[in-house]
Amino acid sequence: MKIIIASSNQGKIKEIKKFFNMDTYAYSEIMDYFDIVEDADTFKGNAILKAEAINNKLTLEQKKEFIVLSDDSGITVPSLGNVPGIYSARYAGANATSKDNLAKLINTLKENNLNKTPAYYTCAIAVIANDRLSTTHGWMHGNVIDEERGTNGFGYDPMFIPEGFNTTLGEMSEDIKKELSHRTQALNLAKYFI
Ligand code: IMP
Repeated sequence: MKIIIASSNQGKIKEIKKFFNMDTYAYSEIMDYFDIVEDADTFKGNAILKAEAINNKLTLEQKKEFIVLSDDSGITVPSLGNVPGIYSARYAGANATSKDNLAKLINTLKENNLNKTPAYYTCAIAVIANDRLSTTHGWMHGNVIDEERGTNGFGYDPMFIPEGFNTTLGEMSEDIKKELSHRTQALNLAKYFI
């Protein structure tokens, strides 16, 4: 069996490929890129939309060969009213880059005089194998700070300090993030279905 990742986010693709000991492809390696509309109101709902969009493009032969796996994830800051949550990828606008989103969350903390406040990452994974759907979740708790530190990871990692640490994910090695992350927790559960 091989895995198709229903995502074009390079940070996620890198982490998911590193997690599995099997042939794992981004969907753009198997088929032409297309836009997937993510208009559900939960991480789980959006993960299902992405997995189904890719699964619907597979031929019967490909469905025997591939498992489809999607990841919908984001960061939530309770003291800011639970932003950005499911809107993490578009916090600074529809065409925002990761840098824009990171800068916006840092600025919002500053505007609210918060230099450090609790936050958590959520990851919903959807897996479709032989047209059968399963979903799992994982979380990583910690704090966000009002500055960028380090260049590792992706997205909001340079401003996120996991619980029990003093450094941001941007300052930590990929292997430590792999031990702790919301994505690893959700993928560990998804492994049972796979
Ligand atoms: P999605 O592709 O709609 O699921 O968007 C996920 C967004 O959440 C990403 O673009 C990142 O901004 C953020 N995100 C999710 N997981 C992580 C992570 O592990 N590190 C940093 N940012 C993340």
